[in-house]
Amino acid sequence: MKPAPFHYHDPRNKDDLLRLLAGIENGVLLAGGQSLMPMLNFRAVTPDHVVDLSRVRELAGISRDGDTLTIGAMTRQRDIERSDTVRDTLPLLQDALAHVGHRQTRNRGTIGGSLCHLDPSAELVTAAVALDATLVAERSGSVRSIPAKDWCRGYLTNALEQGEMLSAVELPVWAEGHGHAFVEYARRHGDFAIVGVAVLLALDTNGAISRAAIAVGGCAAQPQRLADVEAGLVGQQPATALFKDLARLASNVEAISDPYVQADYRRHLARVLTERALNAAAGRAAKAAA
Ligand code: FAD
Repeated sequence: MKPAPFHYHDPRNKDDLLRLLAGIENGVLLAGGQSLMPMLNFRAVTPDHVVDLSRVRELAGISRDGDTLTIGAMTRQRDIERSDTVRDTLPLLQDALAHVGHRQTRNRGTIGGSLCHLDPSAELVTAAVALDATLVAERSGSVRSIPAKDWCRGYLTNALEQGEMLSAVELPVWAEGHGHAFVEYARRHGDFAIVGVAVLLALDTNGAISRAAIAVGGCAAQPQRLADVEAGLVGQQPATALFKDLARLASNVEAISDPYVQADYRRHLARVLTERALNAAAGRAAKAAA
């Protein structure tokens, strides 16, 4: 298949890009093309305009300012995977990226594309929800901050409005030595996960859990935080029996059935993978504290 005819634009800076976006209708932004190109070729989308972001250099980059890590939307997944700054602040992102497609797709794919495409089991979306990320939406004359929990408006539907683009994602940095783990189940390595779980744990000076964040992706249109499991963990000493017991609550997640996977099996995976991820994150936190 070939795409329906469209006008191609390749702006060279953010000002030209925003001016262009203000003046077109029915346009799409091309980042790494790893999801958009198949959608265009299958005519799942038939835009009148395709705006190539690859020459807008201001949209890529990784920086830390105090307790916030900012990653530009056009930052390639592979650059995040190999970033020392990300490794030293939020290694969960690198845990997640290890599961995203293949090295070849990560060389082209971007964090902005993953977050905007919003596949229900996209690992970077699950990690963003676990990390309480803020997504920065821009259009000519306005900038908006959208919490990750409000980013998904439905299946493959993000919260951007007409003429807006995602320019960056801001992530609160966790204390040094925190535990982290991204665990998933996919039919083959590199496939989209059926279910994926992101966990972060921080321990206090007595080794008790002082903070926990758990997000489950792949069960419904958007990742879900396990607030009841998080609350049950805080104040407790990490223990496999505790994780097994609390992980049972993960079976309460909202889950859909589709022709490939039944809801009950997704809930079963949510429970099993939450327990595994908690043990892995607790092991890392204990090792960091030793
Ligand atoms: P594009 O494909 O260029 O764009 C994706 C969508 O986001 C489009 O609608 C586009 O208009 C929009 N968009 C992009 N950037 C912006 C922006 N800045 N502002 C507004 N809208 C924007 N992904 C996973 O999460 N897990 C996997 O296991 C996985 N496996 C894959 C396996 C294969 C073989 C392939 C080809 C892809 C796989 N992917 C997987 C998808 C891949 O991660 C894509 O990189 C990602 O989904 C989209 O990123 P992209 O930069 O290529 O964006």
